[in-house]
Amino acid sequence: MVFNDALRARQQAHAAGLPHITDAELSARLTAAKATPERAWLSDVSAVVLQQALADLTAAYRNFVASFTGRRMGPKIAPPTFRSRKDRRQAIRFTANARFKILPSGKLRLPKIGDVPVRWSRSLPSEPSSVTVVKDAAGRYFASFVVQAAAEPLAPAGTVVGIDLGLTHFAVLSDGRKVASPRFLRRADKKLKRAQQALSRKQKDSRNREKARVKVARAHARVADARRDFHHQLSTALIRDNQAIAVEDLAVKGLARTRLARSVHDAGWSEFTAMLEYKARLYGREFHRIGRFEPTSQVCSACGIKDGPKPLHVRVWTCAGCGMTHDRDVNAARNIARAAGLAVSACGAQVRPGPVPAQRREAGTLRGAA
Ligand SMILES: [Zn+2]
Repeated sequence: MVFNDALRARQQAHAAGLPHITDAELSARLTAAKATPERAWLSDVSAVVLQQALADLTAAYRNFVASFTGRRMGPKIAPPTFRSRKDRRQAIRFTANARFKILPSGKLRLPKIGDVPVRWSRSLPSEPSSVTVVKDAAGRYFASFVVQAAAEPLAPAGTVVGIDLGLTHFAVLSDGRKVASPRFLRRADKKLKRAQQALSRKQKDSRNREKARVKVARAHARVADARRDFHHQLSTALIRDNQAIAVEDLAVKGLARTRLARSVHDAGWSEFTAMLEYKARLYGREFHRIGRFEPTSQVCSACGIKDGPKPLHVRVWTCAGCGMTHDRDVNAARNIARAAGLAVSACGAQVRPGPVPAQRREAGTLRGAA
């Protein structure tokens, strides 16, 4: 393998934290992550080491069975399949025994490969026990480290929040804030669509098709990176600022949408809620996933009466029971918090355009392909 290209470092957050997570749980999580398009490049992580591959396979089967029997939330998982030889992702894992080393210069020393420059996306909290180097379909190299990190409970926060995940806004909070998908993400999404259209017009097995394929892979990787960073920023801010967080069960939410919207958005939503969940555990916050017992958009979050169905175009309505005027989505977010047993204040401005958590891009993750 050639590592002259810039090597990007990524700490695998859910593999990184959480000392109380067992190996079995960890591998199950990794497998779940592989089901999302953003993490598809992880699929080959263990391919080079037979034992790791076997462990993965066990986990994949476990997840499939759990998904099949309904013990597992989220989208249904297909049974494990053979890995395609045409798969363009490659990975290799080095454990501590393999004597990889991080040099004071910041380069990564890999056995039999040499010292490779790394663009670090963040510093490691402790000595890594292994590193996995992945070449993705876009031809970029990533290094992800497994590190042990102790849970660090945050000081108690005074507020709780219900979150309504939606299509018009990425998230609407029970305190009235609305969080849109960042503009750079929507732009990258558009670019990806154009690249896909171009690819579909190219002749099979032509040189141009191969070029177009790499372009699509790069665009896709960029969208996935941007989306994941956005999810990290937002979930960290929400966990930091609130003592308890409630979200809707996505399996329930999924019923209301078309198949296409579901496939695109569910992956993003489940990645985001998974981040909220593990960060809540890591920082000592409460996390609730609630089923939709009642249509959250029909019930007044102030007095609790069911005000009747509201067509989608009705964004603001006034409760016939108590006279409160509601923003549709904020009211839904409040009902989600309430269903989790969280007391949110129903008074105050309904549509407060307050500050939205910073959507800072992580250094190094959005640059051009290596
Ligand atoms: Zn009311």
